[in-house]
Amino acid sequence: MELIEGAAGSGEGAGLRSLYVEPEEDPAEIQWGALEFHDVFRIFRSGPAETVALRGLDLRIEPNEMVGIVGPSGSGKSTLLSLAAALDVPSAGEVRALGRSLARLDEAELAEYRACSVAIVFQDDNLWPALSARENVTTALRLADADRADRRAGEALDAFGLGDRGGLRPRSLSGGEQQRVAIAAAAARRAPLVLCDEPTGQLDERNEGLVLESLRELRDQFGATVVVVTHAERVATACDRVVEIHDGRVAA
Ligand code: ADP
Repeated sequence: MELIEGAAGSGEGAGLRSLYVEPEEDPAEIQWGALEFHDVFRIFRSGPAETVALRGLDLRIEPNEMVGIVGPSGSGKSTLLSLAAALDVPSAGEVRALGRSLARLDEAELAEYRACSVAIVFQDDNLWPALSARENVTTALRLADADRADRRAGEALDAFGLGDRGGLRPRSLSGGEQQRVAIAAAAARRAPLVLCDEPTGQLDERNEGLVLESLRELRDQFGATVVVVTHAERVATACDRVVEIHDGRVAA
């Protein structure tokens, strides 16, 4: 992995350029992964201090795969998810999601990507507290400009065993139920890429199992590609594949 100092750039990425080169084939002919990182660097600068969160990360996740991302605290896992969600931009390198280079999307395309293509499930606080479970799912659908939002929200809650919880606000739901509502919202809008950051981090064993079931259902019934950052061994081993991140890159 090599960085060229002094190459053209702007913002935090100034002075860095990845050596990744786009393939020359016709993009329509290429079997793109659901998520691809090519030689990705993310460097945070604060005055003279510099933290290299990702240093030449290469990763490919296939469509409809469920992949666990593990690694020590500070190894770059959350940074990876932020870049995949287009909530952050790499200092160098290429992030490609669903066949599109995120760096080449304009503002409108990025907004559409965030609202429709990708869903994020954090450790907690995924729901609007003033809205019921059903309204949470409906609102996520409306933001994605989906039609028949009410009906689809009801169907998704039913699919995840939450049909009788729809009228309750998050504070009246258990932690596990709240996580499953967030997963149901991702399913309802058919988000093809679902990114989870420690989705069972606050849950007991039983609820961890239920959330894990829901993530599998997202993959199997809704065709999603699921990326799960986790410290939970049970969650990692239930994935199709586990990728270990160390010091900002995939461990050998
Ligand atoms: P993980 O999720 O594996 O714990 P992170 O991706 O959160 O790791 O962080 C990787 C490294 O980048 C850490 O050293 C962290 O302190 C640093 N980092 C993450 N976000 C920022 C930020 N916004 N500003 C400065 N440093 C950051």
